[in-house]
Amino acid sequence: MRIIALMLTLVLGACAPATEDVVQNDVVTQEVVRTGDPYARGYTDEDFPRIQELAEGVYSYEQLRPAGEEKFTTVSMFVVTSEGVLVADGQGNVIETQRMIDEIAKITDQPITHVIVCSDHGDHTAGNSAFPEAITVWAHPTSAEVLERNANQMNSDSEAAPVLVPNALVEETEVLSLGGKEIQLRFLGRAHTGGDLSVYLPEEKILFMSEAYLNRIFPAMRSAYPSEWVAMIEKAQAMDVDMYVPGHGFVESPQILKEELETYRQALVQVIEEAKRLHALGLNAEEAIEQAQFGDLETWSLRSSQGSRAIQRVFLELNGELPGSGQEN
Ligand SMILES: [Zn+2]
Repeated sequence: MRIIALMLTLVLGACAPATEDVVQNDVVTQEVVRTGDPYARGYTDEDFPRIQELAEGVYSYEQLRPAGEEKFTTVSMFVVTSEGVLVADGQGNVIETQRMIDEIAKITDQPITHVIVCSDHGDHTAGNSAFPEAITVWAHPTSAEVLERNANQMNSDSEAAPVLVPNALVEETEVLSLGGKEIQLRFLGRAHTGGDLSVYLPEEKILFMSEAYLNRIFPAMRSAYPSEWVAMIEKAQAMDVDMYVPGHGFVESPQILKEELETYRQALVQVIEEAKRLHALGLNAEEAIEQAQFGDLETWSLRSSQGSRAIQRVFLELNGELPGSGQEN
């Protein structure tokens, strides 16, 4: 585990070009390889979890997660205040979420009081039963419904960890004040799950976007709303934000994260355009998956598992067959 103070980078990031080594005020900003692949970035498994202090009391938490042959990071964010700790997104199982809870306890004596379900998918919620019982769990109604359904289906399966069902709902915006810190829970539109929440810290100008922002990870669309997702990112881009925090992929300097959010928006557009092109040729989804060419995105993490799902999902949208709520996982 290593803790890195990013606050200096927050200041420098705005003026330092990221693609070359820059010496500025005796600080060297190393070139960053823009990839979701931890090994191409020079990391080893021992470098994780990776915790960075993004602003006073605000931390990102990145842990490696295997997907087939590949590994990539799943990102949570936590905010430490004098009235408790707010955690945005858990990890993928009880062991990993407990590990995060233990790491938080090394940083503060404050208890975890709030958990925000920004993505209802299992890799961000399946370990939530590790959180203390007396907490407020916020979610968008769509995600709350998904988790309630999962909880009901669990009864017969005693081996799986219990599902933590949300007990507070965010329709559009909820403004929390915790130890004098303003924390906004925002629904900016349907994106990766349909119940996508973001956590906005207006003073620090940080926006945790969860899975609506996948940094150099191939657009994962199994329960997405493809064109609404693009609009949601544009809404986030129009906000007063210095640092956009992704739900998968690396947490970089504010400047790189801003650039990569635009790269990601363009990646979504590219995938949608490719699916549209193939759809217009009259191909069915299976044929389209065979013929799809994703250009630069061919080398992105999870391309092999997510390319076909993305085509299928855009085809559903083009055929007017997207479900009304983000029900499938
Ligand atoms: Zn997901």
